[in-house]
Amino acid sequence: LITQQSQEQMIHVFEEKKQLVQDGKSDMAKLIVVSLSIQPILSLAVRYNLSPDETALKLAGYFRMLGADLVLDMMVADDFALLESQREFVERYRAAAEGGNKSKSLPMLASSCPGWVCYAEKSHGNLILPYISTTKSPQQIMGSLVKYHLAHQLGKTPDSVYHVTLMPCYDKKLEASREDFFNQQLQTRDVDCVITAIELEQLLQSDGHSLAMMDSVPLDFPWSKTQPSGLTLVSHQGSGSGGYADLIFLHAAKELFGNSHPELQYKSLRNPDFREVMLEENGKVLLQFAIANGFRNIQNLVQKMKRGKSNYHYVEVMACPSGCLNGGAQVRPQDGSSPRELTVKLETLYQSLQKHMPEENHLVQELYNTWLGGSHSDKCSAMLHTKYHAVEKMTTALNIKW
Ligand code: SF4
Repeated sequence: LITQQSQEQMIHVFEEKKQLVQDGKSDMAKLIVVSLSIQPILSLAVRYNLSPDETALKLAGYFRMLGADLVLDMMVADDFALLESQREFVERYRAAAEGGNKSKSLPMLASSCPGWVCYAEKSHGNLILPYISTTKSPQQIMGSLVKYHLAHQLGKTPDSVYHVTLMPCYDKKLEASREDFFNQQLQTRDVDCVITAIELEQLLQSDGHSLAMMDSVPLDFPWSKTQPSGLTLVSHQGSGSGGYADLIFLHAAKELFGNSHPELQYKSLRNPDFREVMLEENGKVLLQFAIANGFRNIQNLVQKMKRGKSNYHYVEVMACPSGCLNGGAQVRPQDGSSPRELTVKLETLYQSLQKHMPEENHLVQELYNTWLGGSHSDKCSAMLHTKYHAVEKMTTALNIKW
């Protein structure tokens, strides 16, 4: 039902816009912005036998054909999420060092997976929530950027922009629908509609199209006048899971211990989806990071934390085994290959992209200065950070008088 609703809603907005333009009332039409995240681009690349860059261009062609005004990649939001997570980790580490055992700063748990965040809110409430990073996920940072920066830059109000994101799972729809990302005053969401890779495949099929048939249209870069030549997709160090463990580890090693080239060698613990890496000096553990993907590993981690047996400083927690490349709404394997083989293929594609460091993104540095007023401002907190809410257990929440 959710799938059908989001497709219908999106098509309705596109149709409505076309009609208003035909009637000469284009000033009443919403500005339609589509943001593409990397994991569904790779999923569709494999599905339609295209390169990742070609896939992004064809997606831009398809959404433009439907009536989108702008089609963007999400690297700027990914970089903001990474930089804010790195900074938050260093601050929490220092706070924990000052606060001793009383501090609830560490371990910092990743926040970019709504499947995990919802589970923590429902099942473990205030015991776990203080440990989850307050940094918004890339989807929601993109929501802030589109509705509160881009709209203003283009002379629009946030509610006159319709923002669609292309994502790897249905949980991203739940994330977009959280109250924290709804502007009561303007009655608008930061992300209005989430379309998944599998839904996009269905939409194309229902119209009798193949993505490969679409025109290739360059992605838009409306952020600054100095547009980089030839926009191509890039990747970050680490896997394509959507997690940040590698870059936070490297940043923390340098920032906290002056180690610019730490060894980043993961050791599998229970299974390949539960791995850890350490930075040691003279036999002392300075940093201990883990990656816990999939609910079995998450449950083990939470139990460890509850028993006070977790020594981790940071844990990249993702609900799907192998993270977002294996998201629940990525396109299914086509050629008889197993989901595991498909994930390996997607990971290889991710690793084939040019590597990029978030600190090197000049646009992000420019936006910190011009839009957010620095990296510690109130606006920075409002636009790039969020809160979590314990969901009371049913028995308490209902509190029924029989
Ligand atoms: Fe969605 Fe899975 Fe990624 Fe979590 S790990 S954000 S549930 S695709």
